Amino acid sequence: MTSSRHLDWPFLEPRHKVLATELELWARRVLSDDLQDHSVRAVDDACRRLVRQLGEGGWLKYAIGGSAYGASADTIDTRAVCLIRETLARHSGLADFAFAMQGLGSGAISTFGTQEQKRRYLPRVGNGTAIAAFAISEPDAGSDVAALQCAARKEGDSYLINGEKTWISNGGIADFYLVFARTGEEAGAKGISAFIVDANTQGLEIAQRIEVMAPHPLARLSFKDCRVPATQRLGEPGQGFKIAMSTLDIFRSSVAAAAVGFARRALHEALSRSASRKMFGHVLADFQLTQAKLAKMATDIDCAALLTYRAAWLKDMGQPVTVEAAMAKMTATEIAQQAIDSAVQIFGALGVVSGQTVERLYREIRPLRIYEGATEVQQLIIARGIIKSHQESEREHD
Ligand SMILES: Cc1cc2nc3c(=O)[nH]c(=O)nc-3n(C[C@H](O)[C@H](O)[C@H](O)COP(=O)(O)OP(=O)(O)OC[C@H]3O[C@@H](n4cnc5c(N)ncnc54)[C@H](O)[C@@H]3O)c2cc1C
Repeated sequence: MTSSRHLDWPFLEPRHKVLATELELWARRVLSDDLQDHSVRAVDDACRRLVRQLGEGGWLKYAIGGSAYGASADTIDTRAVCLIRETLARHSGLADFAFAMQGLGSGAISTFGTQEQKRRYLPRVGNGTAIAAFAISEPDAGSDVAALQCAARKEGDSYLINGEKTWISNGGIADFYLVFARTGEEAGAKGISAFIVDANTQGLEIAQRIEVMAPHPLARLSFKDCRVPATQRLGEPGQGFKIAMSTLDIFRSSVAAAAVGFARRALHEALSRSASRKMFGHVLADFQLTQAKLAKMATDIDCAALLTYRAAWLKDMGQPVTVEAAMAKMTATEIAQQAIDSAVQIFGALGVVSGQTVERLYREIRPLRIYEGATEVQQLIIARGIIKSHQESEREHD
């Protein structure tokens, strides 16, 4: 579908090239992007089916960590996760979503879970028989996540959770939710803990299904005296914010990779259309104005991909990655939006017809500039990081 020259970049190892090539063949055989029925039921069914297929195909093993629990390796291979998301996004936004949520919803269990928690959840996430979700956002705490109010009060051997979560992907179809709630050890970020809450726990309800421009399962959750055994707490009390941020450190680069996948598909569509659309006695690709658009799209996409795989490589090398992952997420999602917009322009009226691939991509890319930290939040993370490094290096030279 697109050139695979980027698979030879030095950030990747031979095993990554094999993985991407095999997944490409699988995706061509199994996936299609023709979900026309956007009803809640059709979208839910499609997601459940995709999770099962991704499990059967062996791809979800890369979304979890711990060979003893069915994972591909003991720690999550961030470059593999990125390649998988990039490839799936090129073929089907919903397949990319299904893969990503298995990782995001269980990532903290892979990293911080007890043996018992890992044994109970990871094998099922990795083979596609359990669906995971990540629940941190609230109506009054999105970008300012440390302001979350959903509370978990200790009572004997359990916690009682009360409050709300919103914009929760897989809300309504998940088998368990990774819930971040205030346990009050300290004010702000240091007073939050993480819990694994099974979907059938009494007191947890789907308060509202939310329909969005790129349909996928999304819901507001309500917790009313929802009792969770203390053994379902992840990590230590008060560690929740750290757990959430370290999970995002892995998966933020993968949002960038998905954006690269959407943008590569848009470039492919734009190249095909401009090479075949006849006008003024030529084809569209003969005109320099078109060539300028295509050149910018290709160059921007490589920029985004280089930042993405640099961040993923740093993470796999055990290096701090917060700034680099933010650079990748911000750049890739913004660039992909522009590249897809150019593809729609090249298609003319056909580009805005419902069901056209570029029309679908136009809707699919938009939320990526908002979730897992909006572009403005990434700008703040980058600025904070580089100002701190600058001050440290100035002190060293004093
Ligand atoms: C499709 C989709 C799926 C999602 N899935 C999940 C999920 O599975 N789990 C989950 O917990 N959450 C999920 N979210 C929620 C997502 O993480 C939040 O939407 C995001 O953190 C932004 O929060 P908010 O929507 O409340 O926007 P707000 O916090 O109200 O921010 C609004 C806008 O303000 C701007 N902004 C933010 N900070 C600053 C600043 N400091 N200076 C200037 N401008 C700023 C940004 O442009 C931002 O978009 C999802 C969201 C979407 C759209």
